[in-house]
Amino acid sequence: MTAHALPTATILGYPRIGRDRELKRAVEAYWKGAIDQVELRRRAAALRAVTRARLVELGLSAAGGAVPESFSFYDQVLDATLALGAIPARFGNIAGNDLDVYFTLARGNADHQPLEMTKWFDTNYHFSVPEISEHTPFEAHPASLVEQVREALEEGVETRPVIVGPVTYLLLAKAADDAAPGFTPISRLAEVVAVYADLLDALAAAGASWVQFDEPALVSDSVPGDRAATLALVEQAYTQLGKVSNRPRILLATPYGNAADALVALGNLPIEAVHADLVRGSLPTAAIADGSFASAFAGKQFVAGVVDGRNIWRTDLRAAFEKAAAVQRAGVDTVVGTSNNLQHVPHDVAAEVQLDARLKSWLAFADQKVEQTVILAKGLTEGAAAIEAEFAAVDRVLADRASAPGVRIDAIRARTGAVTDADRSRASEDVRRVAQGALGIPDLATTTIGSFPQTTEIRQARASYVRGEIDGAAYNEFLRSEIATVVKLQEEIGLDVLVHGEAERNDMVQYFAEHLDGFSVTENGWVQSYGTRATRPSILWGDVSRPAPITVAWSSYAQSLTDHFVKGMLTGPVTILAWSFVRDDQSLADTANQVALALRDEIDDLVEAGIKIVQVDEPALRELLPLDADRQAEYLDWSVGSFRLATAGAAPDIQIHTHLCYSEFGEIIDAVDGLDADVTSIEAARSRMDVVVPLGDHGYSRGIGPGVYDIHSPRVPSIAEQTELLRIAAAHIPGKQLWVNPDCGLKTRGYDETVASLSNLVAAAKAVRGASRERAH
Ligand code: GLN
Ligand code: ZN
Repeated sequence: MTAHALPTATILGYPRIGRDRELKRAVEAYWKGAIDQVELRRRAAALRAVTRARLVELGLSAAGGAVPESFSFYDQVLDATLALGAIPARFGNIAGNDLDVYFTLARGNADHQPLEMTKWFDTNYHFSVPEISEHTPFEAHPASLVEQVREALEEGVETRPVIVGPVTYLLLAKAADDAAPGFTPISRLAEVVAVYADLLDALAAAGASWVQFDEPALVSDSVPGDRAATLALVEQAYTQLGKVSNRPRILLATPYGNAADALVALGNLPIEAVHADLVRGSLPTAAIADGSFASAFAGKQFVAGVVDGRNIWRTDLRAAFEKAAAVQRAGVDTVVGTSNNLQHVPHDVAAEVQLDARLKSWLAFADQKVEQTVILAKGLTEGAAAIEAEFAAVDRVLADRASAPGVRIDAIRARTGAVTDADRSRASEDVRRVAQGALGIPDLATTTIGSFPQTTEIRQARASYVRGEIDGAAYNEFLRSEIATVVKLQEEIGLDVLVHGEAERNDMVQYFAEHLDGFSVTENGWVQSYGTRATRPSILWGDVSRPAPITVAWSSYAQSLTDHFVKGMLTGPVTILAWSFVRDDQSLADTANQVALALRDEIDDLVEAGIKIVQVDEPALRELLPLDADRQAEYLDWSVGSFRLATAGAAPDIQIHTHLCYSEFGEIIDAVDGLDADVTSIEAARSRMDVVVPLGDHGYSRGIGPGVYDIHSPRVPSIAEQTELLRIAAAHIPGKQLWVNPDCGLKTRGYDETVASLSNLVAAAKAVRGASRERAH
């Protein structure tokens, strides 16, 4: 090991929301004006201190940059925007201190839309999208990075600031409104790199010995340009950064995918360490065999990301060790690390009190993952024999897991094993169109996506029920009256196809997880979704089955109250998997089929109870799309297949709807077609119906509902506004196929704005229907 080398165990980042979601509470209190900025900063500093101390307690070295400094008040990409001074011109001069500027970019204010949010690689974490034009100013603002480094040093911890790298930053940015046509943010790489150089300078002056730049763009086929182009940009950027005379050592990290083909080139850069995700990715076997890998890394370090930072299972230590040892045997100075920043897993299994003890013994959250890297590092330095006891302990855990009741259920496996292609196919589109004609649904039919506002009363009633303050019968009564109100309201507004409102659901995935066997729900397993929002993904640990109908009572009660059709409302198999922690001992395809069959039975029961239209939401279909283009076909095959398995039991006269939460359709339009849903609703208002053109070009023949009402803000879109969007859609899509609906569910909205907006939506549909009737005469 060279002097100042990275210690042999590290992680790429740690959850920053706090074990008790302290950060959420502090930031939200600041937004409400309940605490001032000094207090917010004090609480954030206290949280950072606790995190560093915890990481050292878990075994990371306090010296040498093993402890990552990955705090963020809201989002790491937004942090980079501020560190680069890249405030979009449209925000003008925002009043207030730095933190107010920061939160205004994140959340907007009365005069400004916030930065758009989008999903971070193939995770369920959302970042604030930078907006760059040829006029964006760039200037280093290292103050908060410097503050964190200094603060840590005072506590005796040499931390390693974690920063989104320049290439990934610009490839994720979008062209700002004031950019010339054809401008691409990445064209400003050289200037941005110069600012990163200034940041390095300031960090060195503050005493940082290491810095980590995350460049996941290197492993993604979803960013502009191909892999070779991204690698060339990275080479250009880091050749420059390497030359900065007084700088911390640089660790370049490539989480979320397979960097194997780039590793030799990255090792040859004038930087000190490279990380590869060896859970998603692999080692460059040929380059290891011919020695080019070893020579690229001579005098450098390789961080082997062998502990999975995306799931919650205890690591198979023997398998993980073997990967790290292979790097060491190749003659490279090896550090054990995680595959990615642990921000995607909860803090600590020990915080779960009610979880079944046996299940708990199989799990590893962030703290346990840190311990696992430390154990593996010990094996690397002292030899495998030194950690034989830990190996043996994991062997026992894995054996216990494999044989535990519920993990493998023969009857369920027999059923998935017997699935044939016929089980995934409905009657032809023509047959269905005729059969569903009997439903008498008008052209430009109006509907909503499912949820109505989750009011304080609903959340309070649920909390009282969970705490045992009201009994099941009282809670049931409350929900039924909620349903009756929502049904009546929709009739008054004049909507054509109604929903029951989903008041009974805390979350569209957790609700199903709670009612299916094979899942468990955590008490404290919070994971940041965006900003101060966190979700608690369920754990899918066993074979999945449906002990009893889940939604039937709610949907049929709603249907009994009205002559309009009420849509049955289910979450699809892909989304249930995407937003849960799934088992790692069988393929996603197998798991998805089990979930699909449970949903298939639910649809049968809904139909039996008189429901004619069933919506199966798949908002996560695109999110799970692998970053590697060559793995995408296989993914689309099983994901689309599981949706079809869930829905294809429906007779031709049953109308199957689906809802997808985004408008970037290009890459998956064939998949959407493959779902074979009779009607698909999608997000479209913010992109001003961009999606209808490709749909028209594609000759899409089934029903489609491009959202005309952007539900992401409390703004009430006027009749004129929604009419205009609908006209654009109607110009490309025949009225028979066109549905009129909001972009997404209404659960985050208030009632006043919802009623006003939906009334305008119904009026817009009438206006456009009238116009097309006149044209027809
Ligand atoms: N039916 C769900 C709702 O309306 C769909 C939400 C989603 O797609 N995210 O809330
Ligand atoms: Zn949606």
